[in-house]
Amino acid sequence: MSKNLKSNADLSQVASGVFHTKIVFVNSYFVDTPENVPGSFVVIDTGMPYSAVKIQNAVENRYGAGTKPTAIILTHGHFDHAGSALALAEEWNVPVYAHRLEMAYLTGKSDYPPQDPTVGGAIAQMSRLFPHGGYDLKNHIHALPENGEIEAMRGWRYFHTPGHTAGHISLWRENDRVLLAGDALTTMNLDSWISQITEKKEFCSPPKPFTTDWQAARRSVEMLAELEPNVVAAGHGNAINGANTPQKLKEFARNFDAPRKGRYVMSPAIADESGVVALPPPVTDTVKVASAAVAAGAIVAAIVRRNRKELKSGENFDE
Ligand SMILES: [Zn+2]
Ligand SMILES: [Zn+2]
Repeated sequence: MSKNLKSNADLSQVASGVFHTKIVFVNSYFVDTPENVPGSFVVIDTGMPYSAVKIQNAVENRYGAGTKPTAIILTHGHFDHAGSALALAEEWNVPVYAHRLEMAYLTGKSDYPPQDPTVGGAIAQMSRLFPHGGYDLKNHIHALPENGEIEAMRGWRYFHTPGHTAGHISLWRENDRVLLAGDALTTMNLDSWISQITEKKEFCSPPKPFTTDWQAARRSVEMLAELEPNVVAAGHGNAINGANTPQKLKEFARNFDAPRKGRYVMSPAIADESGVVALPPPVTDTVKVASAAVAAGAIVAAIVRRNRKELKSGENFDE
C-alpha cells in the first residue's frame, strides 16, 4: 500500500481512548485497549473499498509509523464498513471479528438482501449505485463468541443489534457508558439532502435502503436506549454526547419511525447462518439509475469539498 498520504488522515476523539476518522460519509473508530495503554488498540469498521490507505495513515498518525491494531472488529459487513477489511487484514496480518450471523456475508457464501431504493430519502436515491454483495475475508474472519465478550477489547462487550443486518452488533463500554452503535442507528439524517452536507447531529433511523427487518431494528434501538449511554458514536454522523443524551435516545426509541412504504417494511428479509433465506417480492422502482447517479455524484462532490475544507482548516486529531 502507498504510504504517501499522511496529511490526509484526520482524527478526532469521541471518548477516552476512542478515536474517530471519517472517510467521505462513513466512520471508522480506533479504540485503545486496554484504555490508556498506548500502542494497543483495535479498529472498528474499515470504510468503503479503497479506504485502506487513509485508515492506515490515520492509525500511523495516532500510534506511530509501522503500528497495527491487535484486531479489526466489524459492526456488520456492508460495503461501507467492511469494504477495506480484507486489504487492511492482509496488510496488518490481524484477525477480523464479526457476529456469527454476519459470517455468511464475510466468507463469500451469501450476498446481502438487495437494497430498497423505493423506501424514500436521499440515501435511498443514492443507494441504487451501492453494492450489496458479500466479501470473502478468507482466513482472516472469525465469529465472535456468543457471550458478548470481545477478547481484544477489554472493558467492552458487544450486543447483538439485528434489524439493519441480521448479525449487526453494537459495542458498549459500561465504565463511562460509551456506545459505538454501528448502523443500528445514525446520528445524522441520511434521508435529507441538506444533512448530507451539514451533518447536523440528531438520532435517526438506521440507513433505510439497507435495513431489512424494521421490527428487529426498533427492538435494537429500544435495547440500546435502555443502556442510557453518555456518548453515542455511530457509523454515520458525528458523535452525540452531553448530559441529556440518554433522554434524547430514549425519546428517539419511543418515537422510532419505520418507513411507511418499502420492500422490507411489511415483511422482513429472512436470514440464518447460511445467509439470505427468503425475501419479500421486489417493489417497482421507476427512477432511472442515471438520474440517481447524477444526484449521488453531486452530493459526493460536495462532501469531498467539505472534507477538504475541514482538513485545510486543521480539524485534525485533538486529544
Ligand atoms: Zn450498513
Ligand atoms: Zn453504513
